Amino acid sequence: MFIDVAKIFVKAGNGGHGAVAFRREKYEPAGGPAGGDGGDGGSVILQVDRNIRTLMDFRYSKHHKAQNGEDGKPKMQYGKKGQDLVLKVPQGTIIRDAETNAIIADLTEDGSTFVIAKGGRGGKGNMKFKTSTRQAPRFAEGGTSGEERWINLELKLLADVGLVGFPNVGKSTLLSIVTDAKPKIADYHFTTLTPNLGVVELEGGRSFVMADIPGLIEGAHTGVGLGHEFLRHIERTRVLVHLVDISSREGRDPVEDFYKINDELKKYNTKLASKPQIVVANKIDILGESSDFERLEKEVSKLGYEIYAISAATGQGIKELENAIWSKLQEVGEPEPIKEVIAENKLYELTDKSDEIIIRKEDNKYFIEGHQIEKLLNSTNFDDLDSVRYFQKVIRRKGVVDRLKALGINNEDIVNICGYEFEFFD
Ligand code: GDP
Ligand code: MG
Repeated sequence: MFIDVAKIFVKAGNGGHGAVAFRREKYEPAGGPAGGDGGDGGSVILQVDRNIRTLMDFRYSKHHKAQNGEDGKPKMQYGKKGQDLVLKVPQGTIIRDAETNAIIADLTEDGSTFVIAKGGRGGKGNMKFKTSTRQAPRFAEGGTSGEERWINLELKLLADVGLVGFPNVGKSTLLSIVTDAKPKIADYHFTTLTPNLGVVELEGGRSFVMADIPGLIEGAHTGVGLGHEFLRHIERTRVLVHLVDISSREGRDPVEDFYKINDELKKYNTKLASKPQIVVANKIDILGESSDFERLEKEVSKLGYEIYAISAATGQGIKELENAIWSKLQEVGEPEPIKEVIAENKLYELTDKSDEIIIRKEDNKYFIEGHQIEKLLNSTNFDDLDSVRYFQKVIRRKGVVDRLKALGINNEDIVNICGYEFEFFD
């Protein structure tokens, strides 16, 4: 199986901080609190797009960051929400956590989406902290950081199109032309896996995978069996491109060849023989005066196939052929999604750890960590008594003090809260 892989880093936007501001009216120097909320950070979202066939684009850009939320503003204005970043992936892409290698998602359905990194939440502005006893809060809530992670994308690359035809009709040449013409494709190192697979890229982000199937006919002739994997691969192709040498340089008859190959296909596997075909008359650059093309065209149309004349050597007719193959693929529709891997593997749930508070003791020091606590810390104005009181109240309410006591904390012990050191007093 040919597997296309890419490792990327995704980072959601941070939530904007809430603002600390007060209304300033002409005759009222100290009005009520008016700091607006910060906007939520944008998320990184994976979306299946059936027009994308490979993970190639991810090889060239590894870091993907969604927009941060804007900080809240004075005059009761909210910060703008950060924009989501949507990354398009091919059908059948498997997402793994790069650290644990656990499968996070199996994206098969066109258009379906998966939030791979959730945006941080915006913090509340000081407006929201006004109470009857606290008329002028000098603190606001900090935004939380957006999630980030390294992930592996994996795609079983299946050929959409299989090239069939007698030896020397030009299958390898055609494949090398339609795939080598694009420098991006040159970076694909399929050669070690198989020399016969390439990605054809058309304008507008359209692409498909083409495989040269030399062994099929050549192997069938000599009785050489093909591997199970290989056969399965061919069976999943959606369109066969049937190449015929129209120049008759090898002393063979193109019409006869066309029928022979179709017979071989049938003998080999009826499923293969009934696949949609596009017939290609190659080597028109050395066609000469012969009327072979007209003869072949007549036979081909009897079977209801389209025929194209090209020269893989000079490039004549190649663009038209590529577009015809694309249209045919659209007509045929999608291959069945590949579900086999996931059937045995349970999907690993991405847990939302943002509310978790971790408390631990290490060498007589106490550590408190977690998104929520970090947010609280960011929010606290330690020069403001109200703000500090609010901080303590929340810490106590979350059970942090009780948990510290359970670990044996004493007054004046050091507590490290998200990197800042405090002395403990009960
Ligand atoms: P395959 O066996 O079907 O893969 O055929 P190849 O791609 O190896 O081509 C066989 C021979 O035909 C090579 O010498 C090619 O250079 C030549 N060939 C392929 N396409 C053309 C073409 O369009 N015109 C001419 N004149 N020769 C071609
Ligand atoms: Mg070849």
